[in-house]
Amino acid sequence: MLRILRELDVTDKRVLVRVDYNVPLQDGHVADDTRLRESLPTLEYLLAHRAKIILVSHLGRPKGTVVAELRLDPVAQRLSELLERPVTKLNECLGPAVHRAISQMQPGDIILLENVRFYPQEEANDEAFARELAQLADCYVNDAFGTAHRAHASTYGVAKFLPAAAGLLLEREVTMLSRATHNPPRPFLAIVGGAKIADKLGVLKDLIGRVDAFLIGGGVAFTLLQAQGARVGSSLVDERMLDEARQCLQKAREHKTEIILPHDVRIVRESAGGWEHAVAPAHEIPDGWQGWDIGPQTGALFQERVASAKTIVWAGPLGRFERPPFDAGTREVAQAIARSGAFAIIGGGDTAAALQQSGLAHAQNIHFSTGGGATLEFLGGRKLPPIEILRKG
Ligand code: AMP
Repeated sequence: MLRILRELDVTDKRVLVRVDYNVPLQDGHVADDTRLRESLPTLEYLLAHRAKIILVSHLGRPKGTVVAELRLDPVAQRLSELLERPVTKLNECLGPAVHRAISQMQPGDIILLENVRFYPQEEANDEAFARELAQLADCYVNDAFGTAHRAHASTYGVAKFLPAAAGLLLEREVTMLSRATHNPPRPFLAIVGGAKIADKLGVLKDLIGRVDAFLIGGGVAFTLLQAQGARVGSSLVDERMLDEARQCLQKAREHKTEIILPHDVRIVRESAGGWEHAVAPAHEIPDGWQGWDIGPQTGALFQERVASAKTIVWAGPLGRFERPPFDAGTREVAQAIARSGAFAIIGGGDTAAALQQSGLAHAQNIHFSTGGGATLEFLGGRKLPPIEILRKG
């Protein structure tokens, strides 16, 4: 069981909140404020309890040095607009100026510390640094699910030194994702797509033996198809991963976990007159052509399997969904999930965002997970240290 926000005495207290405000910036403004909005329930809870809120987050990859473009000022500004109250942005995470500002806080005040990855001690999970962060507050709340697979000072180390609990966003993610890791209703399907085969083979390996079947699409399908001896034309293949792909197929056979690869694919090639489109058998893609989406037969088969599933997890699009009409396979399978009523988790950042925007945001049976790597590691049964340290008993 996780220790949760409601179990923590936050009234009139200084509360250090680890948030995930790793948002895209453009021209000094927040280009997408989804992650800020997702943190609002926890912040509103704390405000209702007259807490003094000290926010800490990373942004980008400054690698332990100060990078001016990665300062959190634009984030503070947008957050202040969303909350309709001032958010004081500091230029450091530690030091006399920070202590002074915190000592002057009144209940309901909000401070945002500087990008915590400006300090090399953060990613090193340095104990002295974590202790210093802990000295800023009376208790600690972790609401940064997106970085919950990284044991850093602000996501893990600090929880050793303060009464600590999961924020509302983290709690909801753990509750939802646990439905797929603890006795999920069967049949249990995993849908895997996307382009990065190295990442996705890891997911596949973790899930073999846990799920009943995999439906594979997207670019990752072609490395697996080629590993089986298929001719995939000029489709995306990562040659370095062929051996690992073969091992993965073998492991699935041993565990009797079905792996369903595309039967047909929508293919394209560039010609003088623009892009030519066609449909081909996935095992015999002509030279010079690339597979960009699952074909109609595969789409129908995937939709049929989805219709009879009870639990579904999905990572990575089934085609190049940014380029219609190659979004069709992904969209149709998503709609089939919404109709099926099966409990589904859609994770992995971009896919989730695209599907949410395509009208599925209100499907009651679908949980759109806010994490990328964290979601996949959790679903694969891995222990995430920042979450484990919040468990009680
Ligand atoms: P990932 O981050 O690994 O989940 O990959 C997401 C990306 O995979 C998206 O940008 C898609 O356009 C891309 N993708 C999906 N299917 C294909 C494909 N058949 N060939 C090349 N890229 C693809």
